[in-house]
Amino acid sequence: MLAIADLRRRLTALGANDAHVGRVLRHWVQARPLTDGRRKLEHYLPQAVREALPALMDELHGLATLVERHPGEDGSARLLVGLKDGQTVESVLLPRDGLCVSSQVGCAVGCRFCMTGKDGLLRQVTSAEIVAQVALARRERVVKKVVFMGMGEPSHNLEAVLEAIELLGTEGNIGHKNLVFSTVGDPRAFERLGAGPVKPALALSLHTTKAALRQELLPRAPRLTPRELVEAGERYARQTGYPIQYQWTLLEGVNDGDDELDGIVDLLRGRYGVLNMIPYNSVPELPFQRPAWDKARDIARRLHQRGVLTKLRDSAGQDVDGGCGQLRARSLDTPAT
Ligand code: SF4
Repeated sequence: MLAIADLRRRLTALGANDAHVGRVLRHWVQARPLTDGRRKLEHYLPQAVREALPALMDELHGLATLVERHPGEDGSARLLVGLKDGQTVESVLLPRDGLCVSSQVGCAVGCRFCMTGKDGLLRQVTSAEIVAQVALARRERVVKKVVFMGMGEPSHNLEAVLEAIELLGTEGNIGHKNLVFSTVGDPRAFERLGAGPVKPALALSLHTTKAALRQELLPRAPRLTPRELVEAGERYARQTGYPIQYQWTLLEGVNDGDDELDGIVDLLRGRYGVLNMIPYNSVPELPFQRPAWDKARDIARRLHQRGVLTKLRDSAGQDVDGGCGQLRARSLDTPAT
């Protein structure tokens, strides 16, 4: 399984220096055709690297290939992406040049409302496979923002995700605050994210203000209370200057009551962050329901009035089996024809 560090080592062994390595990686992650800037590449690269380049680029493009593409009406498209060993993950082309990538095949956190969590962790996605999802999407269209909100918990594959973030934020030409690391709140992530050369923005999955309910909904998330999570987020926001994106999947009858609204106001008013409220996308396999849009809008309005910056969002690709892990689950259920 190829990591970006292996790739750097291979190029170095062929005689490339740091600038040469950067140039090759830039070509890949920015999805430039080999013919684009060929003369420059040929001029700058040692002969052994030049000769290896066509096969290397084929290999890199083969790390993530398009299996299915499901366009949505909102400008999004859900991609089922094949990895070299036959596993699949999901990427989502988001409106406004965003891309959501997967960092694991499956996930060990086991959130009760998530299809990806149902079967546990199958394997890690390598740093090169994460970047390959971006290169694949860029062959379809422009990508200016990458969010780590697809399949998997990025903190559980931290080294690979940080390596991918560093490359995307340098040779990948993506602004650092347009890289969004999303986590249920792993203390290791808080320690490491602010220490690297590329500091991403942070999204924290809150979902409820009640510690016991959070433990029930996110059974294998680290045992941080919602208040501890928000305090850790606040420190990171102050350190980086980026607001925290608090994620709230709105589940009918579970976390949409007045008690939760009071809890949110108590936790988030005055914090440097925004609450992203996303009405759940119901699936037959799971017992949760999506609240009515009017009710969700009313909740967002009341939170606004009480001083909590709240954005009501629909999950991208809602009309194309949206929601992380659902497309993959469906493709596994569908008998091959
Ligand atoms: Fe894992 Fe995210 Fe699904 Fe939870 S919601 S099981 S963290 S992929």
